[in-house]
Amino acid sequence: MNRETPPSAPTLLDADTADWSQPQWDAHWMARALALAETAASLGEVPVGAVVVQDNVLLGEGFNQPILSHDPSAHAEVVALRAAAEKLNNYRLPNATLYVTLEPCAMCAGAMVHGRVSRLVYAAFEPKAGVAHSQEAFFERSYLNHRVAVENGVGAAAASQLLSRFFQQRREQKKSDKQKLIENFDAEE
Ligand SMILES: [Zn+2]
Repeated sequence: MNRETPPSAPTLLDADTADWSQPQWDAHWMARALALAETAASLGEVPVGAVVVQDNVLLGEGFNQPILSHDPSAHAEVVALRAAAEKLNNYRLPNATLYVTLEPCAMCAGAMVHGRVSRLVYAAFEPKAGVAHSQEAFFERSYLNHRVAVENGVGAAAASQLLSRFFQQRREQKKSDKQKLIENFDAEE
């Protein structure tokens, strides 16, 4: 699995961050997750990016890459969680915040509970498969032995735009591929 930092990921700002408020940090880390999502899009993967942060220090990051890595579990969140756990040498990530550009699916939500992530911040809603709010409130289930605090909305417009642009381009590509197929067929006759 590719865990290398993609070239387009921004580095920490040079500005003095000592007096940053939590919303400023949230915007900063979500911007980094969005850059990772763009990397996914440029590789033909559905654009989702995630970072795991502890005390506002980056632990791990990832972008959605199931096709490239031949791995159905290679969602951005799982890639970032794996990198973070490897960095800490610990399968649990106490006091960690996971930033992701899209509402997580059931698999990723479960992985966050297993990893004891403290806080989840996601950008856009995922009406079809999102389990933080859209399909259910997974993190509020009574049987869970760990609570993840959930927030959403930071960077939502940018994340949604990236996703709709990606799917629009993919539809257009399919249309033009179909057109080419028809033209080639006609030419052969
Ligand atoms: Zn997922």
